[in-house]
Amino acid sequence: MTMPTVTLIEGDGIGPEVIEASLVVLDKTGVPLKYERVEAGEKALKEYGTPLPDLVLESIRKNRVALKGPVTTPVASGFRSVNVALRQRLDLYANVRPAKSMGVPGSRYEDVDIVVVRENTEGLYSGVERMAGEDRAESVRIITRRASERIARFAFEYARRNGRKKVTAVHKANILKYTDGLFLDCSRRVASDYPDVEYEERIVDNMAMQLVVKPHLYDVGVTTNLFGDILSDLCAGLVGGLGLAPSGNMGNGIAVFEPVHGSAPKYAGKNKVNPTATILSSAMMLDYLGYTEEAERICSAVQDVVRAGRTVTYDLGGSSTTLEMARAIADRV
Ligand code: NAD
Repeated sequence: MTMPTVTLIEGDGIGPEVIEASLVVLDKTGVPLKYERVEAGEKALKEYGTPLPDLVLESIRKNRVALKGPVTTPVASGFRSVNVALRQRLDLYANVRPAKSMGVPGSRYEDVDIVVVRENTEGLYSGVERMAGEDRAESVRIITRRASERIARFAFEYARRNGRKKVTAVHKANILKYTDGLFLDCSRRVASDYPDVEYEERIVDNMAMQLVVKPHLYDVGVTTNLFGDILSDLCAGLVGGLGLAPSGNMGNGIAVFEPVHGSAPKYAGKNKVNPTATILSSAMMLDYLGYTEEAERICSAVQDVVRAGRTVTYDLGGSSTTLEMARAIADRV
């Protein structure tokens, strides 16, 4: 295998800390990775006048794989989300967000193993939004057959490849009759090509309730952009919080791995937050690159450290620093 080069984006806020922590763990796996560091977000804005310089996109297009920290997006004004722009411009159409119980002491459930497959390029994140006069604002929710079919196919292929039994399409087609009507129509058509995988549908509000009350009933969920964003944070909460939730943004031959959480500005520079979400994202990246055994070693080291509860960060009831927790994980890899 040739030595892969990974585009590395530290991001903003707690980004640099969680990325450095994940490098401590990646180094211990012995996988010979090279890193190409580029900047996106606030630092890039200062240096290049744009939060998403072309050289970031060029680097990812060239290397085909990236590990990324969270990037801050100003609320209700300012520049457009770098994260959304990156996903759209690289056509990273599938956002894979696994939530698996890891034995966090005191957590409500022990048997959660859900993967949310979120459509990543359209829906309410299409960016078609405007003020229509002073007192009226409009956002256009774009759903296309092409994007809906390919995300449904991705979910079923993912289920098959990973030995999963069921795909649940999550929608609001009772109200959003055209947009989610189309999404459901595509999901059903694709489902008929996978008779070996069970298929069911849930209305999103019911799904939110069911996930809280009976999460063990769900396996792979496939849904549109905003619903996927919200439900995957909900699932993260079921298994111990955002500090533990990894993700991969997948396109055709390109993938960007990043924690589900954001840049948590109030914790920036404090060496305090949980590095696990980024460490598990880096394990997803190794798996994607074909280093499955090394990825599994990271996951089981994380599980050991989380279960033991001795060297964990504040969010898991401990008092270890980001780096201490990462080193404890690295020691077990
Ligand atoms: P956030 O995920 O940054 O933080 C919310 C809260 O979750 C934090 O206050 C903290 O209590 C907890 N948390 C998050 N990460 C944690 C970790 N690693 N360990 C322990 N606790 C953790 O969400 P937010 O405050 O809504 O957003 C902050 C910024 O991040 C915004 O600018 C938002 O746009 C951006 N954001 C970026 C991404 C991304 O880059 N993919 C994703 C979500 C949010």
